[in-house]
Amino acid sequence: MIELKGKPVAEAVYSDINKQLSTWSEKKWNSPHLAVVLVGDDPASSVYVSHKQKACERLNFKSTLICLPATASEAEVAGALQKLNLDSGVDAVLLQLPLPKHLDEKKLTEIIDPKKDADGLTQASLGALMAGQQKVASCTPAGIIEMMDHYKIQLTGKKVVVLGRSLIVGLPLFHLLIQKNATVTVCHSKTENLSNLIAQADIVFVAIGKAEFFKPTDFKKDAVVIDVGIHRRPEGLCGDVSSENAEGWLSARAPVPGGVGPMTIAMLMKNTMTLAQLHRQN
Ligand code: NAP
Repeated sequence: MIELKGKPVAEAVYSDINKQLSTWSEKKWNSPHLAVVLVGDDPASSVYVSHKQKACERLNFKSTLICLPATASEAEVAGALQKLNLDSGVDAVLLQLPLPKHLDEKKLTEIIDPKKDADGLTQASLGALMAGQQKVASCTPAGIIEMMDHYKIQLTGKKVVVLGRSLIVGLPLFHLLIQKNATVTVCHSKTENLSNLIAQADIVFVAIGKAEFFKPTDFKKDAVVIDVGIHRRPEGLCGDVSSENAEGWLSARAPVPGGVGPMTIAMLMKNTMTLAQLHRQN
């Protein structure tokens, strides 16, 4: 069984960004600038945001972090996003999710200027993705496709199942896989005969958010399984798929930890770079 590790793929993305950046000084272009809005003190979100800042430092991107209290009103969060939209020095804006329960994530995400939409989650970005015209796509699904390309996992003509239909993972992944000519079935909590569907698929992308809900033998022998789930437990991180008997059953899998995980931030940097380049060209 091949372990599809995210780190080498993320490193290749960083190295490509560095290569592109090396031509920027001749053009007298400023470094890309990513701004992140963090509301509240969710520990996992704080960790993700600090990793995003470190990635910016590593690439010499400018980064701005706007921290608002968990009690911030919708108007306050909207105001912070509008200010970043108007700031011509900011290339990319990310509203860190999840937000505290009293805030409407879809409504606030929609305030981000699509030209600065670092995670491709505004309706304009999602519409462009559906039309196959996206400038950037949501970081985790885009990172998964980058991994498929890197490891030369053929998607054309393959029978693929995506488990989960969230706006952040399942749905954008569906569109990206269709663009790669896969034959895709998207499943969710109301899907009937799920076990039959996954037992027939060549490649399964699992993003249901339930710790070790599946075991490798639930999938077809020699299937490729990409586990997107992340769950923190006292004994460490795990995914939506357990590891028992994966060796000898699956042909390849993206493990948790070490699989898709590192790709999300790498793609955020790539998206920031893409948006910054578009701003400087226009
Ligand atoms: P989410 O918004 O909770 O969506 C879960 C999806 O799974 C929903 O569409 C749900 O169906 C479906 N589902 C739930 N139980 C199911 C079942 N038993 N059978 C089939 N489908 C089922 O989660 P998400 O934001 O997409 O995240 C999914 C997982 O990926 C989480 O563990 C999250 O932590 C992880 N994640 C990882 C990264 C990364 O960087 N690696 C990034 C984002 C997310 P309904 O629509 O019918 O409710």
